[in-house]
Amino acid sequence: MILVYVDHDRGEIDPISLQAISAATALDPDVQAVIVGHGGKDLAGEIAAFGATAVHAGHHADLLDFTPRAHARAVHSLIEKTSPRAVLAGGTPRGNEVLSHVAALMDAPFASECVSIVLTGADSADIVRARWAGNMLEEAVVLAPVLIASVQAHSFAAVAAAAPLSLAEFDVPLAEGDVLVRVEDRVGSSAGGVGLAEAKVVVSGGRGMDGPDAFSMLEDIAGVLGGAVGCSRVVTSAGWRPHAEQVGQTGTKVAPDLYIACGISGATQHIAGCKSSKTLIAINTDAQAPIMGFADYVVVDNVHTFLPLLIEKLKSAN
Ligand SMILES: Cc1cc2nc3c(=O)[nH]c(=O)nc-3n(C[C@H](O)[C@H](O)[C@H](O)COP(=O)(O)OP(=O)(O)OC[C@H]3O[C@@H](n4cnc5c(N)ncnc54)[C@H](O)[C@@H]3O)c2cc1C
Repeated sequence: MILVYVDHDRGEIDPISLQAISAATALDPDVQAVIVGHGGKDLAGEIAAFGATAVHAGHHADLLDFTPRAHARAVHSLIEKTSPRAVLAGGTPRGNEVLSHVAALMDAPFASECVSIVLTGADSADIVRARWAGNMLEEAVVLAPVLIASVQAHSFAAVAAAAPLSLAEFDVPLAEGDVLVRVEDRVGSSAGGVGLAEAKVVVSGGRGMDGPDAFSMLEDIAGVLGGAVGCSRVVTSAGWRPHAEQVGQTGTKVAPDLYIACGISGATQHIAGCKSSKTLIAINTDAQAPIMGFADYVVVDNVHTFLPLLIEKLKSAN
């Protein structure tokens, strides 16, 4: 049996978790899911629709929002009860954090960001995992009776495979210190609209936008195309846009049908977050900028003159 930790944000499943369930069903048809916290049990039907044969929903009065160590405690308690061959999660910041804690609780190795997993024996697995922002693939043999691994975002497709719904609730056995690190409050925008990670179109801006005001042009384009706005780290570091919009190694990894990079140079750490885009258009004044080498289409122009024209054309076409 494979146990999958399903990450959800106040009742909304992270789609990368569904990719982890599909990665698990390819290893073993017996896949069970564990989801923790307020609203988790209401998501059991959605999880079962991707092939999990059982959903374990852990709850505790103190677990209203994300609490990494407590979530790990819940996963660990289920490992002890159900003896899975492997424990997987989506390679998201939360998935990786929770499984790191699980590995620490078990004094076991943790293989993060796997792009391939093969269980070769009772306590051995061959894995390939992305290192250095995906610039290096590491092949490794993991020797452990319980493989603990996260799957890199978008390396496995989430495939619908409805299983009969079987829901079991359990109390999370918290220990001292498990809730010391927790989300207490949320500030900033949660304006709704299309989420960056799953958007089909991402319109991203970098230092070349010259300040926060010009991002209204990217919002316009994203609005017309039904997409989301992204940005580079320079932009979040300058406080022009929130970190939630940062694309890259230390931001969100996206895989849209269309990625439009406006005034972004294409540093390795940025490309790590957008290289799975099906089509990439780069708009840059510098024809030699690294992003031009990754792009399917390039526009060598100033964003401040080109984007207004693009917006006009898009609006008149709609
Ligand atoms: C550990 C680590 C992690 C990192 N993680 C990330 C990450 O997750 N995401 C990320 O993005 N970066 C990340 N970085 C930073 C990364 O290395 C780059 O510094 C950053 O991506 C550069 O942002 P930029 O392309 O907006 O700016 P720049 O590199 O300064 O590029 C600006 C581009 O805009 C063009 N330009 C300027 N004016 C115009 C104009 N008017 N019209 C059109 N084009 C114009 C320029 O020709 C240039 O190509 C990380 C760095 C480190 C060390």
